[in-house]
Amino acid sequence: MDKMRLVVVGAAGRMGQMLVRTIAESQDAVLAGAVERRGSAALGRDAGELAGLGPLGVAISDDPLTTLLQADGVIDFTGPAATVEIAALAAQARIVHVVGTTGMLAEDLAKLEAAARHAVIVRSGNMSLGVNLLAGLVEKVARTLGIDWDVEILEMHHRMKVDAPSGTALLLGEAAAKGRDIALADHSVRSRDGHTGARKPGDVGFATLRGGTVVGDHSVIFAGAGERIELTHRAEDRGIFARGALRAALWGRGRKPGLYSMVDVLEL
Ligand code: NAD
Repeated sequence: MDKMRLVVVGAAGRMGQMLVRTIAESQDAVLAGAVERRGSAALGRDAGELAGLGPLGVAISDDPLTTLLQADGVIDFTGPAATVEIAALAAQARIVHVVGTTGMLAEDLAKLEAAARHAVIVRSGNMSLGVNLLAGLVEKVARTLGIDWDVEILEMHHRMKVDAPSGTALLLGEAAAKGRDIALADHSVRSRDGHTGARKPGDVGFATLRGGTVVGDHSVIFAGAGERIELTHRAEDRGIFARGALRAALWGRGRKPGLYSMVDVLEL
């Protein structure tokens, strides 16, 4: 099969630049376009040069539709508003859309589901193999231990991160809720401050730390009477997310429309 022609949206961002480097190194894909928001200082610059490589002959554009029409897939680590816009355009172009963006609201996710009727969308709050394996372990441990063990999820990210809790923390919370056969939305405690009262049985608590350049640390703590189990993942390099996203794009090629996750891609 021909190399998959991929567009990176948010090409000047931290993840965008990593994706440009990852695609440039790949035998299976080629960078077909790079998009940034209107008014970005990166517009017109070569995406390869911006990412610290030599020139790739791909100028960064603010015209997503024209760019997507020349591609087989788009990888998108931007923000919720941009991702909703790209989902409609990718559906129109009938190309694979890989969504790494976090902080999406229920109404944004409903729009992704509508777009997934026409095209393949792979979305995950964390594209790494390690975290998706961890989610499987968390589900199993939560099912085995039951409600007497309190579940708390602690995450730390770099100082520039704008949403909290992280998409990964929520993904791990969903895994714990699934193991307990409960809906996370009915049991999650997203922050605590002041006189909170005692912890309610069955709650899944979240705690957020921000600082420095931390790529992403997550711990799921199961606290029982007199003992504790802690499962931890530490991301050391954004390359793990970019490689996962590229793998998702290649996996999605030729598949029937629908909304998929990394659990599907990794066949976990
Ligand atoms: P960043 O701020 O460095 O980059 C985001 C880029 O998107 C910016 O360059 C911005 O200009 C661009 N952008 C915004 N609106 C746009 C639009 N309408 N069109 C085109 N480009 C637009 O952020 P980052 O650290 O690269 O993270 C981006 C997103 O990816 C965040 O939501 C983050 O949480 C998420 N993330 C997900 C994973 C995962 O595995 N799923 C891993 C890391 C980061």
